[in-house]
Amino acid sequence: MLLEEVQDLKAKWGKEIILLAHHYQRHEIADLGDRLGDSYELARAASEAERARFIVFCGVRFMAEAAEIVRRENQVVIHPAAEAGCPLADMAPVDRAEEAWEHIAGVRGADKVMPLVYMNSSAKLKAMVGRYGGSVCTSSNAGRAFEWGFKEREAVFFFPDEHLGRNSARGVGIPEEQVVVWDPKQEGGGIEEKALKGARAILWKGYCHVHTAFVPEDIQQARERFPEARVLVHPECPEEVVKIADGAGSTAYLVKAVENAEPGSTLVIGTEINLVSRLARDHQDRTVIPLKRSLCPNMFRISAKRLLDSLRSLPEPEVVTLPKEVKKDAKLALERMLSI
Ligand code: SF4
Repeated sequence: MLLEEVQDLKAKWGKEIILLAHHYQRHEIADLGDRLGDSYELARAASEAERARFIVFCGVRFMAEAAEIVRRENQVVIHPAAEAGCPLADMAPVDRAEEAWEHIAGVRGADKVMPLVYMNSSAKLKAMVGRYGGSVCTSSNAGRAFEWGFKEREAVFFFPDEHLGRNSARGVGIPEEQVVVWDPKQEGGGIEEKALKGARAILWKGYCHVHTAFVPEDIQQARERFPEARVLVHPECPEEVVKIADGAGSTAYLVKAVENAEPGSTLVIGTEINLVSRLARDHQDRTVIPLKRSLCPNMFRISAKRLLDSLRSLPEPEVVTLPKEVKKDAKLALERMLSI
């Protein structure tokens, strides 16, 4: 019933509405999406949605904020679950990040360190990075963003995901001894000045609980049970997991790997469970198995009922808003990402 009403309202508003759904959404929401994608693909889709007046974003708050930053003047962004945040994004409050930047820039020089912020962060943090000449990146283009950062400056300061930062630094050939971790709970990030001066990658101590749930033993067990399987994981997983997997990459990479796999093949995937189970559902001629059941409860907050309530509120919905200054500076950092 609820889903039928959602479909009726979507049909009623036609091209005036675009529904963007992240891959980690429940199946019924993902299936309703005009576009299904990862945070990078959906930021692009929002910036390209010329005809829609209403951008309905089914994902977590930082994603809806990113759409609000890139939307056109005549559009509004609607987030059906305003309270659906992301604990990883919350691990880097902007005032703590500013303190860290001040310290690092004081030791190294502001023109020597490139700030790179993961898409999974607040709009205020993106704005800070925009002001200091840096870029946003996602798991799809983190490697390219690191290469760009090193071309422009001596070192990169990446936040808030330590694991994506570590895996990306290793991917572009930065030796382990030139990687340091900034712990916001410690004085000076807990990094000795000598180490900070020699570091090429400075990583914020933050993590996604959905992806750090995976441990090397999960891969060993999967290999025992399915010796013929390829094991693929997301780069927000810890380095020791990424290192022993057969491959690691963004959500888009994992989706493509399953789509391109030979019929009859077996893939074990280490990422959010809704995506893995949908890949299994949609590719029944190959075997797709979750490395472990790991659910993002924040993504799960958007239900058919919440989506329906948002659509019923048209044409006067509650919309995502951001201060003008924040939008302007965050847009700089997002546009740098889209051009890298
Ligand atoms: S999967 Fe992790 S990073 Fe993504 S929204 Fe959920 S908690 Fe945040």
